[in-house]
Amino acid sequence: MFDQYLGISPKSDLLLLQMLGEKLHKRSFLHVSSTREGGGVAEILQRMIPMFTEIGIQARWEIIEGDTKFFNITKKIHNAMQGNPERITKKMWDYHYEINGKNADKLDLEADAVLIHDPQPAPLIEFKKSGLWMWRCHIDVSNPKKEVSDYLCRYCEKYTAAIFSVAKFARKMGIDEFIVSPSIDPVSEKNRELTDEEINKTLNKFQIPTNRPIILQVSRFDRFKDPIGVIKAYRIVKKYNDCILILAGSPATDDPEGEIVLNEVKECAANDPDIYILLLPPFSDKDINALQRVAAVVLQKSLKEGFGLTVSESMWKGKPVIGGAVGGIPLQIIHGVTGFLVHSIEGAAFRTRQLLNNIEMAKRIGENGREYVRKNFLITRQIRDYLGVWYIMENKGRSIIEI
Ligand code: UDP
Repeated sequence: MFDQYLGISPKSDLLLLQMLGEKLHKRSFLHVSSTREGGGVAEILQRMIPMFTEIGIQARWEIIEGDTKFFNITKKIHNAMQGNPERITKKMWDYHYEINGKNADKLDLEADAVLIHDPQPAPLIEFKKSGLWMWRCHIDVSNPKKEVSDYLCRYCEKYTAAIFSVAKFARKMGIDEFIVSPSIDPVSEKNRELTDEEINKTLNKFQIPTNRPIILQVSRFDRFKDPIGVIKAYRIVKKYNDCILILAGSPATDDPEGEIVLNEVKECAANDPDIYILLLPPFSDKDINALQRVAAVVLQKSLKEGFGLTVSESMWKGKPVIGGAVGGIPLQIIHGVTGFLVHSIEGAAFRTRQLLNNIEMAKRIGENGREYVRKNFLITRQIRDYLGVWYIMENKGRSIIEI
């Protein structure tokens, strides 16, 4: 399997990965998250689990189950951690804990290393029996609501280590903290090269015309992704440049707000025939790949963003990306070099027009972006980092020579 990455991923990552794989051979590594479909966490784990297995690590991925009440609460916690004013009552926290307890009864949580992803399953730490437990934060916690963050931290501080995507998200928790940015898989259906025939199939399926440049945003329908801002920016661009806008998204089983936001988006689009709102079923990887490949400009106009895999996905396809200057997006976009960072609807419109009107610049930025992703945001680097954190934590206190 790793042969596929030769000539794509940096050689140093592959070598280190191989060495760490040998050190951790036959050990068990459990991941727990809250959904198998929709969103970046599921996207990465789907690809990563078989790769761990391939290098001889016994990897498993478990999902916690909950009812609507549970996911409404966890969405509120998520929103508050990303800075929205939300009130989480003691009763809600108790329910969060209770559902995690029920999951702990059902799930096999025994492993040498356990990585718990995001706030939804964070209370599982209370049910730990053995192993090295680490908490992985994927969301934008640059400016969380203090009360909620303090409560959640009661759980997080009980882990042996925490892993964040961006350095400025880390906070003093009294445990070891690491920075590991997410990544994309260059050989997955989402990111592999496509033939013209495959691309045309997607265009035909959604009846998308190719006679005008396409502006694209791929995202769950979530207010933090600012789909309404994207439509407003498109409307400014449209006054000067004839173009079409595609907003593509699919529901995530742990995101109960998706439908409400989708309806807001439809209302804002007001039946504009040049706005394509595509509600894609889960695992529409090839279609998303094709859409990213036909876009002239890709937007990720987020207002909060843990990392924003869609940015790297599009950069990998050589596309110029305009991203909100928030969370993990500035890690990927070097302003003016690998894309543009924006702070407003007007800014997004201005940069979109600049790229539509300057094909050479768009091409250069796209090429820079692809190279930047190759060096920094491929899955082989992230697997290397996870194994590195595990190995370091297990050998903490021992000298390098002993290791
Ligand atoms: N995605 C998808 N279908 C959709 C919308 C998004 O497969 O309709 C994928 C997208 O390609 C990316 C991931 O879901 O791989 C979203 O990750 P990101 O980090 O951008 O945002 P998150 O949803 O985790 O906040």
